[in-house]
Amino acid sequence: MALDPLPDLQRIFGFPDFRGVQRDVVDRVLAGQRTLAVMPTGAGKSLCYQLPATMLEGTCVVVSPLIALMHDQLRAATAVGIKAATLTSVDTNREETIARFRAGDLDLLYVAPERASNESFRNLLSQAKLSLFAIDEAHCVSEWGHDFRPDYRLLRPLLDSFPEVPRLALTATADAHTRADILEQLGISREGLIVSGFDRPNIRYAISGRDNVNRQIADILEKIPGPGIVYAQTRAATEKLAEALGRSGRPTRAYHAGLDPQVRAKNQADFVASEDMVICATVAFGMGIDKPDVRFVCHAGLPKSIEAYYQETGRAGRDGDPAIAHLFWGAEDFARARQRIGEVEPERQAGERQRLTAMGGLVETAGCRRRILLKHFGEERLEDCGNCDNCLGNVDAVDATETARKFLSA
Ligand code: ADP
Ligand code: MG
Repeated sequence: MALDPLPDLQRIFGFPDFRGVQRDVVDRVLAGQRTLAVMPTGAGKSLCYQLPATMLEGTCVVVSPLIALMHDQLRAATAVGIKAATLTSVDTNREETIARFRAGDLDLLYVAPERASNESFRNLLSQAKLSLFAIDEAHCVSEWGHDFRPDYRLLRPLLDSFPEVPRLALTATADAHTRADILEQLGISREGLIVSGFDRPNIRYAISGRDNVNRQIADILEKIPGPGIVYAQTRAATEKLAEALGRSGRPTRAYHAGLDPQVRAKNQADFVASEDMVICATVAFGMGIDKPDVRFVCHAGLPKSIEAYYQETGRAGRDGDPAIAHLFWGAEDFARARQRIGEVEPERQAGERQRLTAMGGLVETAGCRRRILLKHFGEERLEDCGNCDNCLGNVDAVDATETARKFLSA
């Protein structure tokens, strides 16, 4: 008799029902079937392993690429009463966590991928019952993915030494090539692939040539007072933009990996709490941030792939209300990207070039942007979306949003 996960979903998480493909993924996991779930940002991937982890006997080992991300997840899981812990180099309670694991007192154990190659870690895992391996941000295992992390390649031998433990890989952004590679790298068969819808209908996409980017972005700020993210290419550019945009009177912050960690954490917390702040950031910003009311995401330059663009713009409008994603680009972005590609390892250059070409197709099209975006993730669409700059003709994409209209008439 198959387990019914719905009562536990309602009792533990307080959600009335599953969303999208969550139910399919959870059912497979509960049946012990290896699975790769490709679901957009915000679709609720965490639940797909957290819920089975509470239902199955033993501990679910969650592999996650960033310590900050793990600690966010830990907080959220603990808040709903799930027994969870992280085992990372910065944790001071490692002895306690190990003891809890051995005693079977953990539903979830979050670890970084580099731990996988560690002999004593493998040994530890053999000392208690495991319910599941969950591999978050699984595109990191693929050189075709947009964020390859060599440590993810260490996972396979670990997984294979526990062949009876089910595996669930999760990612938001993987094109067909990357999906096939993830399946292969993690030993999951093709029938284990579950892909959910990628469309974010409330996000209006707009892409234009860059002339005076400070002015162009300031125009958007003027029309949309809600919180926004501006992605810039360099650390210095984030600070300059924050300063320039701040002159309009809007609260602005910079965010990049070179800032003092305390300043960075404060800027992020300020942004999450704010109803009108603009954060000017490098792509280091955003992973694991759950702020539903972001009203616009601007790119001051070309993202390095459609996957990255989709993930970054996907941080807008998670509450379902209208939001804008406006990208500004110039021919020099392509020149710089080609130069960067020339400097990466030779075996990765073909993939990078393909990603750049796809990005070029998106910015240069005169057709529906959403159709190209969705096609990239394998969803064929025939009709025009009616909610991107090209579908809207020469109407100013920002002026025409519900959000802007509401604020302009207020
Ligand atoms: P992802 O990892 O796919 O980006 P998360 O796991 O962080 O998404 O979940 C995004 C948000 O959706 C979280 O706030 C989570 O609590 C919420 N969520 C997940 N599943 C459901 C559901 N079935 N019903 C309502 N909200 C959900
Ligand atoms: Mg996630």
